[in-house]
Amino acid sequence: MSDIVQLVKTRDPDQPEFHQAVTEVMESIEPVIERNPEYRQAKVMERIVEPERVIMFRVPWMDDKGNVQVNRGFRIEMNSAIGPYKGGLRFHPSVNLGILKFLAFEQVFKNALTTLPMGGGKGGSDFDPKGKSDNEVMRFCQSFMAELFRHIGPNTDVPAGDIGVGAREIGFLFGMYKKLHNEFSGVLTGKGLSWGGSLIRPEATGYGSVYFASEMLKTRNMSLDGKTCLVSGSGNVAQYTIEKILDLGGKVITCSDSSGYIYDEEGIDRDKLAYLMTIKNVRRGRVKEYAEKYPHAVYTAVDPALGHNPLWDHKADCAFPSATQNEINAKDAQNLVNNGVSSVSEGANMPTVPEGIEIFIENKLLYGPGKAANAGGVSVSGLEMTQNSMRLGWSRKEVDERLHRIMISIHKTCMNTAEQYGTPGNYMNGANIAAFVKVVDAMLDQGLV
Ligand code: NAP
Repeated sequence: MSDIVQLVKTRDPDQPEFHQAVTEVMESIEPVIERNPEYRQAKVMERIVEPERVIMFRVPWMDDKGNVQVNRGFRIEMNSAIGPYKGGLRFHPSVNLGILKFLAFEQVFKNALTTLPMGGGKGGSDFDPKGKSDNEVMRFCQSFMAELFRHIGPNTDVPAGDIGVGAREIGFLFGMYKKLHNEFSGVLTGKGLSWGGSLIRPEATGYGSVYFASEMLKTRNMSLDGKTCLVSGSGNVAQYTIEKILDLGGKVITCSDSSGYIYDEEGIDRDKLAYLMTIKNVRRGRVKEYAEKYPHAVYTAVDPALGHNPLWDHKADCAFPSATQNEINAKDAQNLVNNGVSSVSEGANMPTVPEGIEIFIENKLLYGPGKAANAGGVSVSGLEMTQNSMRLGWSRKEVDERLHRIMISIHKTCMNTAEQYGTPGNYMNGANIAAFVKVVDAMLDQGLV
């Protein structure tokens, strides 16, 4: 396994996030390879770490002042063994090839766990939507799609949203695809309700992460009712994580953005959540404004040079990291343990560094890795594709029930697989092994392609 990690590092030395994601999976699947020597023979590990296709392109657009801007666009088509490539688009200045490869790699495993026929992909741009006008965002999205459209399609590759890509961006991208292709199809998910979207898609990742936490807690005869929760982020995933925690009787005392975090000892109730949604979704403002409206809440600016995030240093029962990768370092993980947290459900992708995961597992926390815990979003994207194919729309109740059943099934798969491979309670091993076996068996069935 270390040979594979070394191969990846040698081939792409400047992609640390990708190395991190590959290392985690390779360590988990060691016992699978021991039991199945044919996998080694067929070089499935070498094949699965190499994207099937990487598309990189120039995205020129004009800002409101008439200046030409140039960004870089990407789409990583990682693996199509079990279905068309599927995964979000991220617009954020930190986006580069290595980050998108890590996300695409994670996506392959996540999608395999959902029970739906979806391969894995990811894409995006180093474009920063923050501070841009709606017209600038539209011009950027149109230019981005002017290249991407020739590589995607409802049976080939179906992108969705991620950081910086919400309902507004999906609308502009869909409009341009439709114009260029002269076709109204389910080529993107996260669409508006009146033009092919699914109910519950905006809520799905956050709701799913909370359903996953509930399933983990049930194994210890606990529930979210009355529990105090830490949530990071204040975007799509964080907002609906907070909403579902409230539905299940929990109390949320934190939320954040990339500038700092809010600590609200009284709890973020429904009215405060509605205000947070207005700040982030309508005004496109900062969480700091929450503390200006509710003066009992404390806002703390977080300086990355601090070396840890004080958000994770509050007494609580459950944690829901829902912002971005590597937002929990080893010190943060130790603080969570010291403060009595018993479950961590990762709404974000790879939010915990490997040393942090080790601390969770050593201390027997219920640790739900992102590829399992946040799979609700892509699951409902898969259900959106199904509804588009059938040309009908399910009710909110029907989609939510399906989402809930999928999250229960993912939890069960991870739990049973972890036990089968001698690491009971280790959801990370369970998720990596179950997904790996499903994908590589499909790859082997399809020959050397
Ligand atoms: P979003 O709506 O754009 O919100 C992202 C949130 O994270 C914002 O509060 C943002 O703060 C914060 N954030 C971004 N970069 C940060 C950084 N470097 N440090 C601290 N905070 C940062 O995105 P989202 O859809 O909620 O995605 C959040 C996470 O969930 C990502 O890891 C994403 O890959 C994962 N995920 C999303 C989905 C989905 O369906 N959307 C599905 C599965 C997994 P600012 O406002 O300051 O940028």
